[in-house]
Amino acid sequence: MTFDCQSCGACCCNTDENRAEEYVDYVEVKPRMLLFRRPELLRKLTVLNHLGERHMKLTGEEQRCVALEGKLGQRVSCTIYELRPASCRIVKPGSKECRRDRRERGISGA
Ligand code: SF4
Ligand code: SF4
Repeated sequence: MTFDCQSCGACCCNTDENRAEEYVDYVEVKPRMLLFRRPELLRKLTVLNHLGERHMKLTGEEQRCVALEGKLGQRVSCTIYELRPASCRIVKPGSKECRRDRRERGISGA
């Protein structure tokens, strides 16, 4: 079984557990991260929570990261791939978290 991120995108969407708790600070963007070097993108793609912590905006019913382009489970890409936050870089295709995210979004191979 291969886990092809470009035909998935599940981990770029808020998790079921977070949704149940109405938690939307899914992908945090910290000041040392590359995205901070691009203020125009930072303004467009991120929001601050009530504690002043910055995170990626989530959009739509899928609660997907606003930087994700394409159709979940078919063809997707990250529009800020080179600048993506640290937490996006540590998800391992085929890991427990990956399989959970795929299962939650109804993407096969979970
Ligand atoms: S859930 Fe897994 S296969 Fe899907 S994009 Fe994330 S790491 Fe890749
Ligand atoms: S920044 Fe890119 S890799 Fe990270 S959650 Fe958003 S779309 Fe996915």
